[in-house]
Amino acid sequence: MKYAVPLPPSYTLLIAGSDEVFPVNRVFCVGRNYAAHAREMGKDPDREPPFFFMKPACAVIQAGEKEITIPYPPMTSNFHHEIELVVTLGKGGKDISIEQALEHVYGYAVGLDMTRRDLQLDARDKGRPWEFGKSFAQSAPIGPVHTASKIGHLATGTISLTVNEQHRQSSDIAKLIWSVAESISYLSRYETLEPGDVIMTGTPEGVGAVVAGDVMRGHIAGLSDILVRVGQ
Ligand code: MN
Repeated sequence: MKYAVPLPPSYTLLIAGSDEVFPVNRVFCVGRNYAAHAREMGKDPDREPPFFFMKPACAVIQAGEKEITIPYPPMTSNFHHEIELVVTLGKGGKDISIEQALEHVYGYAVGLDMTRRDLQLDARDKGRPWEFGKSFAQSAPIGPVHTASKIGHLATGTISLTVNEQHRQSSDIAKLIWSVAESISYLSRYETLEPGDVIMTGTPEGVGAVVAGDVMRGHIAGLSDILVRVGQ
């Protein structure tokens, strides 16, 4: 096979305690999945069916305890952090039942759904797609994947984010409106899921802006923290 143009890069995540890497396929993101965050975004957090948007694989950048720097993206003056539990899938499938959904999970990680909030809200209010607000390169720093075979499945535990060691976001993943199993099951009715797919499960309340030089620390109990600096 001879490619007419250079082959696009592939994206991977480190796996805690392993030499293998996790190949990133698609990134599905759940919208407004904590009631207090839905309220701060001006929406009613009743249990309406979940909705999803996507990021390209190139949004994913490896993060971890060693600080990394992501660029301040262009065309925004309101660049927001969203700390999220990240689920990686080891097995694909469609019409997956809630009862069997967790069998499709490979592992869990801490991630950030970095958002150009001004562009997202402008699009939302005009009834346009969110892509320019959400789907850009290096908008999803994600820590090493901890395998479910080692740590089990996460249903409860602190999720938090500090900026320059100041408290910004703090909640518990038990407060997810749609659980990991429910999200996988729901998604699989609309799209056949594949190994390598990644689900970002939504952020709790306390989202806010970061500026160049800020250092974010994301934490979820039982997983590796991530340290992410905002560049120029
Ligand atoms: Mn999000």
